[in-house]
Amino acid sequence: MIKEYDITVIGAGLSSLMFLSKILKNKPKLSILVIEQKKSIDHSQSFCVWEGPGLIDIEKEYKLKSKYRWNKILIEGNGEKIKKDISPYRYVHHDGYSTLKSLTRQVKGKIKILYGIKVQKVNELEKKVQVISSQGTFLSNYLLDSRPKISKSEIKSEYIQQAFIGNVIEVNSDNFNNSEATIMSFSKNKNETEFIYQLPFTKKRALVETTVFSSNPNLKKLQTKHIKNLKKYGSYKILRSEKGIIPMALIEAQTSERIIKIGTAAGMVRASSGYSMRKIANWISDNKGKSLKKNNLFSFRYKSNPSLDFFDRIFLRVIKDHPDKSPDLFIKLFSKSNHKSLIKFLSDKPSWLDIINIILSMPKNLMIKGLLKKK
Ligand SMILES: Cc1cc2nc3c(=O)[nH]c(=O)nc-3n(C[C@H](O)[C@H](O)[C@H](O)COP(=O)(O)OP(=O)(O)OC[C@H]3O[C@@H](n4cnc5c(N)ncnc54)[C@H](O)[C@@H]3O)c2cc1C
Repeated sequence: MIKEYDITVIGAGLSSLMFLSKILKNKPKLSILVIEQKKSIDHSQSFCVWEGPGLIDIEKEYKLKSKYRWNKILIEGNGEKIKKDISPYRYVHHDGYSTLKSLTRQVKGKIKILYGIKVQKVNELEKKVQVISSQGTFLSNYLLDSRPKISKSEIKSEYIQQAFIGNVIEVNSDNFNNSEATIMSFSKNKNETEFIYQLPFTKKRALVETTVFSSNPNLKKLQTKHIKNLKKYGSYKILRSEKGIIPMALIEAQTSERIIKIGTAAGMVRASSGYSMRKIANWISDNKGKSLKKNNLFSFRYKSNPSLDFFDRIFLRVIKDHPDKSPDLFIKLFSKSNHKSLIKFLSDKPSWLDIINIILSMPKNLMIKGLLKKK
């Protein structure tokens, strides 16, 4: 017999667990099933966010404990080195495993999560949604879908990808300055925007990632570059690995009365940076107080912010058409803008004054080129 639920959720990842942990507090009397293809929560991710005044305190709101935080950041390239003290803001690292574990604990008993089941097909029937999986079929009235599947018609801008390979490494001597996070250290590359991201956890231990923004990332080449980058630290021991390919684009997900997309495929990844934890938290906060009821799932669909989309569209064009110049764009942005405006902008919460500050800090030629380009 096919078991029926009020809501099926595909994926027990960041967007669905943050959403359920918060929204279920409003006591919905609904039966909810989450289907996750992974066998269990794994150690393959970190979630970093900017925190500070005017931003939702993610740790407090979601009862999470961050592992590391920095109030000094570094961005470098083109012979320039920009160091900033971003107090009272900070850059915060959440361990992916602990985060998902904690969110899962918070929804325990209220929903059913089935691990190790891959959803193969979804059919919207007249009054139900049918989910066909590797272990049978499920029926529900509504579906929240966090699979990272994006169709061409949902992409509303240039489409590039952020690809990265990272390792937490340990070295023998005190190589790292653990009071400062390197957000972007650009490498020379004519065809892609390429940089190293380095989060020092201790003087001997750091997460080091090699990242490219590219129309067509080649993971083999990236791996070779990454190994070369790691060699700069001398002899090291690898403690953990993570890698990803994240879409960088403006996305308008197709939605129906019964099915809504959430997370990456719904446009909850910031197009110009690839970050999503903050965007997910903002989306949930926009629905604050609303209880999940029968028939109201559609009202939770993600709506983007048109003024931020305007900037991201230009960023994406510059990154795509002038990859050799995009370091200049980021360096100017970090060096010329006021850090409070910058962080609120990167966290999707800028005021008009912040936006003016951001516009004034951008290299005008590049921005005009991006603005004038016809799609
Ligand atoms: C390695 C890595 C590091 C990142 N670091 C940061 C960061 O520091 N800060 C930040 O803001 N963002 C970061 N991101 C981007 C973003 O935060 C994450 O990708 C985030 O997990 C997005 O949430 P989501 O719910 O859309 O996707 P996920 O968290 O990936 O959740 C989707 C879930 O759906 C499951 N799934 C997919 N297909 C199926 C299927 N067919 N059947 C069943 N289950 C399925 C997946 O296994 C997954 O668990 C990172 C991404 C990666 C990959």
